[in-house]
This record gives sequence, C-alpha cells and structure tokens, in this order.
Amino acid sequence: MKKIIVADHYGVCMGVKRAISMTEETSQQDKNVTIFREIVHNEAIVEKFRSEGVGQTNIIDSIDGGTVIIPAHGASPDIFKRAEAKKLNVVDATCPLVIRIHKIIRKLADSGYYILHYGDSAHDETVGIIGHAPERVKVIESISDLDKIESLPDKVALTAQTTAGIANFDEVEQYAIKKFPQIEVFNTICNATTQRQAAITKLAPNVDIMLVVGSKSSANSNRLAQISQSLCKRAYLIDSAREIDPKWFEDKSQPVDVVGLSAGASTPDFLIEGVIEKLNRFSKSPVELIYPKKKSKENELALKNSTF
Ligand code: SF4
Repeated sequence: MKKIIVADHYGVCMGVKRAISMTEETSQQDKNVTIFREIVHNEAIVEKFRSEGVGQTNIIDSIDGGTVIIPAHGASPDIFKRAEAKKLNVVDATCPLVIRIHKIIRKLADSGYYILHYGDSAHDETVGIIGHAPERVKVIESISDLDKIESLPDKVALTAQTTAGIANFDEVEQYAIKKFPQIEVFNTICNATTQRQAAITKLAPNVDIMLVVGSKSSANSNRLAQISQSLCKRAYLIDSAREIDPKWFEDKSQPVDVVGLSAGASTPDFLIEGVIEKLNRFSKSPVELIYPKKKSKENELALKNSTF
C-alpha cells in the first residue's frame, strides 16, 4: 500500500458534534439523564454514554423523572408534550438543520400544502417530521411510491430527509415534476450530506479499495457506502478498524496501492484514526497519508443563509 487518500469532506458534522457535547455537559451536571432513542447513529458513541451510566430508552413514558435528551435526529412534538406532562427537564439536541425542516413542514402545512417527503419511513428523523403535520405529510421512499399516487391537490410540495442520496432525490424530483407539474420542491438535504457524497463520488473511482467508516444504523454512512460501491469494485462499510478484513489486501492479482477513506457524519475522529493506524500496520513500507487541504464551514454557512 502506497497511499491513503482521505475524502475532501468526511466524518463528524456540526449537528452530531453539538449533540455529543450537549450530552457530555448535561451528564456531567446531572446524574439522572436518559437519552430518547440514540443520541446519534454511531455504535461507539451510543456505547460510550451507556458505559458512563447515561440511560437510554425508546419509550418516553418509561422515564421516571430527571432529564431527557432529544437526539440529533429530533423527535415529534408529541414526544416533547409527553416529556412535559411527566415534568421532565428536556435538553433538545436536535440538529438545527433538522429543526429547519420541521419549520418548513409546519409553514407549508399551515399554508394549506400537502407534502411529499422523500426519506426512509422508519428513520427517527422522518418519524419526527411526520409528527409536525401527520395528516398532511406522505413519505415517499422511491419512484414507485410516486407511481401509486393518482392525483394531488394544487398546493403540493416535495421535501427530503437531510441524509437522502443526492442522485436519488434528483431522480425523484424530476419524476415528480413531470407527473405533478404544480409541485414545489424544497431540497432539504443538508450541506454535510451533499459535500460528503460529492467528495466520495470524486474519490472512489480513483482508488483500489474504498473504506467508509460508519455504523450500519447510520443512514448517511450507508448512502456513502452505496455510492462508493457503485464506483469502486472493492468498497466496504466498516464500523471501526476491527472490521477491516486482512484478506482484502492479500489478493496478489489485485494489488492495493491506494486506499480511499471516508466516514459518515456521525463517525467520531478516533474511529477514523484507528482505521488509519491499522492500515499502516498492514504496509511494509511507509504509507503517504493525504488529508483534504482545509476543513469546510459548510453547515455554519447553511444555517447563516437559512431563511427559516
Ligand atoms: S447530517 Fe446534517 S442534518 Fe444530520 S446532524 Fe449532521 S448536519 Fe445535522
């Protein structure tokens, strides 16, 4: 192995960093803290808080007093109401870019729009979004879901999960506009997602093996893995260095000179560093490590420019 090239945009995003530090601060000050669902979709982070004694539950009504933390993916208004009814202290770690979608959905619903939301119906973020206007939001997971709709009202909008695939959303958007010309499109995919997908699209075709560090539960890590698998014959999603299979590097008919590396928006830096260390151990000679030149301010910029 001669080189490891790290994608221009990779790893932990502003919303995830913020949720982790809010949880750290809260749990240092308060010993009775429970996280509602997973604070972020990364097994190492979930395990870290669990091992530090922070509680976790999927059922808000099961929390008996103390503080509840709402995760980066947000929750529906009903969850906040139930927490209030139980007199829980609520720390809201919802990513500001998820809150932005909540506001868009509410504004559209209040203005009489029917909303098609492109996303995974079972994802925590989608469940939270639907909760803002359950009677006015329909989740679309694919073009075939659009096919099943015969007609829509005049006021109709299309939105997307923050971590949706850019190319997939483009296809859905084009199809929706063709079938329902009145549709108004709000591209709510966040900048962290857009930039990580663009960076991996650029890198994956030019490497021998592409590694994406992220948990199987992470929607955006899965999306990065899917994109890289379509562009690079040997592309793998790994939760940590432990999941690197030495056999990937042993096939003499397919020598590995260049490894590409990326990571989902919920993957902490220490997991990426662990992967780099392990890759270095495989190599008999020094490996050149190429990092992107500068870190982007993508999310901060997106928030500043937001009109919601
Ligand atoms: S992926 Fe985007 S929406 Fe999700 S937490 Fe990160 S910045 Fe926020």
